[in-house]
Amino acid sequence: MSDVLIETKSKEKVAPIRVAGVDSLRQLVGGWKHNHATVALVPTMGALHDGHISLVKLARHHADCVIVSIFVNPAQFSPSEDFSSYPRSLDADLERLTTAGVDAVFMPGEDTIYPTGFATNISLTGPASAGLEDVSRPDHFSGVAIVVAKLHNMVQPDIAVYGEKDFQQLAVIRQMNSDLNLPVTIKGAPTIREPDGLAMSSRNQYLSASERAAAPALFRVLQECRDRILSGAPAPEILTWGRTQIEDAGFQIDYLELRDAQTLESVPYTPTNPFRLLVAAKIGTTRLIDNIAVDQTKLAQPAPH
Ligand code: AMP
Repeated sequence: MSDVLIETKSKEKVAPIRVAGVDSLRQLVGGWKHNHATVALVPTMGALHDGHISLVKLARHHADCVIVSIFVNPAQFSPSEDFSSYPRSLDADLERLTTAGVDAVFMPGEDTIYPTGFATNISLTGPASAGLEDVSRPDHFSGVAIVVAKLHNMVQPDIAVYGEKDFQQLAVIRQMNSDLNLPVTIKGAPTIREPDGLAMSSRNQYLSASERAAAPALFRVLQECRDRILSGAPAPEILTWGRTQIEDAGFQIDYLELRDAQTLESVPYTPTNPFRLLVAAKIGTTRLIDNIAVDQTKLAQPAPH
């Protein structure tokens, strides 16, 4: 796609402005800022669902202008993963974004993000990126970090919104954004679920009917583990029990781990700190992730009158 404004938005038009290149992006966002508008970015890989749209709504709540990026980032997929088959549904995405009242969509080509000769990598250290997803996807978070750093630099938004659905990713992005002094405020948004509890995900469309029927077990087990831990049962025993429950529901488990919710450090559970219970498991060939707050400090607050 060429580096031009493909479409402009007037007051009557509801379709978002589409931008593919960095010069036109800077021109657009620069114009907004010139008019003293605040700008929110919602990065996505497309195949949009209500979870993505909830981020757009949060972005709209915090900023005057909302821009959504759609880019399936090859750097965050390992060679054995689903980059080429990852769902792509641009027309439906644009319709959804029009309905959601998004101001602009940034749809860079691969050569815009990774031009020939691109030679920079972000290497992550520290507890946020250690373990969990990093075990089975070792280059995943450096791929996420580089694209997010680039998007924050290209768009230069005031805020950027990311989902708690990818809780470890959110922690890694917060860390990278702060370490690199990027002037972007990160907002986390709660996970949007199907009525049966399954976290919405672009990859849910890979599930067969029987896998889809079994999939809500993942969140059910997270809830049961949370309730048992909050009522005082020993966390290590509950995690062992939870892993068995998930396997009995037909999953192959990658991890079920309790981590400090703020640092993502792997430390023994204490009811005085907020914790997060995170899971990844495969059903058939589809890998699902989910997480839940385990936070006694919230329960301890007095009920409002
Ligand atoms: P993706 O397109 O999968 O890369 O996701 C783009 C953004 O949407 C990320 O910040 C995700 O964490 C967020 N997201 C994905 N699924 C959900 C969901 N069910 N609820 C809320 N946010 C989500």
